[in-house]
Amino acid sequence: MPEIDNPVVDPLPPLRDVIAAHGLAAKKSLGQNFLLDLNLTRRIARAAGPLNNTTFYEVGPGPGGLTRALLAEGAARVIAVERDERCLAALKEIAAAHPGRLDIVSGDALRIDEPTLFAELGAAGPVRIAANLPYNVGSALLVKWLTVQQWPPFWESLTLMFQREVAERLVAQPSSKSYGRLSVLTQWRSRAKILFDVSPRAFTPPPKVTSAVVRIDPLPEPLAPCTLAGLEKVTAAAFGQRRKMLRQSLKALTPDAEALVLRAGLDPTARAEQLSIADFAALARAVAGAPGPVPD
Ligand code: SAM
Repeated sequence: MPEIDNPVVDPLPPLRDVIAAHGLAAKKSLGQNFLLDLNLTRRIARAAGPLNNTTFYEVGPGPGGLTRALLAEGAARVIAVERDERCLAALKEIAAAHPGRLDIVSGDALRIDEPTLFAELGAAGPVRIAANLPYNVGSALLVKWLTVQQWPPFWESLTLMFQREVAERLVAQPSSKSYGRLSVLTQWRSRAKILFDVSPRAFTPPPKVTSAVVRIDPLPEPLAPCTLAGLEKVTAAAFGQRRKMLRQSLKALTPDAEALVLRAGLDPTARAEQLSIADFAALARAVAGAPGPVPD
């Protein structure tokens, strides 16, 4: 159990008491590792700012540690989506302590169309997103938020907890072990930064690995021109066989992969992990004009 020296952030009981009162024993199936230290959740909330005059979208509030911190640090409004119905009563108590500032939505964040939800709730303008999520859901949501058609997107920033190893993939540079599809997708049209590590001891129950808080800010426009579909196609093919030369790995896209790579101005003997984001964009533009795969 972490030593917790909780500051007074609101008139609500300590999170440990909230969990006991509502019977919120952590469920492994929902990836529940709760943060009970309000000093830490306030640090995450500040990292997700600026908070004043800002609407936050929080996914997976659980018993409400980060939610309470966002509200205490001055978020104008928090829209929180939670899948575990057991948490809703505890969240309603937070809403009652902050009238008109917390909307609780019961549901699966992976299935929610955020712009529609925000319009229904009358939340005008861009929102900032903050979440401490189960790792599999976190990655899926990140991809969902990075692959929206409209750019700049409906979100102004993402501040998310990830397994340290996943965080490293988001910021990885070419020729490193962690560099892959997620690095290219993230860095193509946003700037990602690892802010700080969070020890397993900070969570209840503690996960097996170290976590890290990552901040992602959208770029006004992509780093290099190409379509999202084209970029996804070339990164999937190239990193699908990351140890092979491009002239081989890109055969999944076109019979004459060597010509494709040359058309992009790249070396056909290079491997995926050596290419920059701009190189992948060049490949995506080249593939748009390439003949399709050879039929079986
Ligand atoms: N934010 C809380 C904290 O920091 O203590 C809880 C974090 S816990 C790691 C993840 C939370 O996400 C749990 O409350 C879980 O029920 C919720 N969750 C898991 N999958 C979800 C989904 N698909 N949509 C919404 N919430 C989800």
